[in-house]
Amino acid sequence: MHTIKQMLAANQAWAEKIIRDDPDYFDRAARIQKPELLWIGCSDSRVGPDQLINLPTGSIFVHRNIGNIFATNDLNCLAVLEYALDELKVPNIVVCGHYGCGGVHASLSHSGIQPVDLWLDQIRFIYQRHQKELDKLDENGRWKRLAELNVEAQVHNICRNTIVREAWKRGQKVNVIGLIYDIHDGKLKQLGLEFDSLKAWEACYGDK
Ligand SMILES: [Zn+2]
Repeated sequence: MHTIKQMLAANQAWAEKIIRDDPDYFDRAARIQKPELLWIGCSDSRVGPDQLINLPTGSIFVHRNIGNIFATNDLNCLAVLEYALDELKVPNIVVCGHYGCGGVHASLSHSGIQPVDLWLDQIRFIYQRHQKELDKLDENGRWKRLAELNVEAQVHNICRNTIVREAWKRGQKVNVIGLIYDIHDGKLKQLGLEFDSLKAWEACYGDK
């Protein structure tokens, strides 16, 4: 286990190495933020996006919470989306779930009244919508499939949102995709979900 003192020492070493390798690095970073994507992922400590897709600092605008949920009643989610699209003009939105997700696993059992229970009710509703399919699987299969279905649902929550729809309507480039990360082998997989226009999304899911 690392101490805070060790973490601060590591930070000093990191900053000094960056300056040695690229003296203008921090001057450039301080001038402008121009990320290539908005990443909506799980808070799980094993699924940090910078490591998974190996992009340099400044490439990813990040929103993470338990279960990678895009909650339309959560001001935090909405503010992140609005800022990413309206100010930063981020061209890609990635929803990334993962196998082995504790939040998804907890959603497979009964709810309670604690904040985590109430938050995860949003995944329980997805389970209920797909119960017929999910109940045919064994426990591990159900856990994995619900993680995928959750990503799918969050992609639709985003595409359905006014902030994204308005961006598409004014011709802004916004590509929304759903990924799942396997913590067992470190690989990301696309879930066949990719929408780059209101027309494309409505053709598939606009009536759902
Ligand atoms: Zn998780």
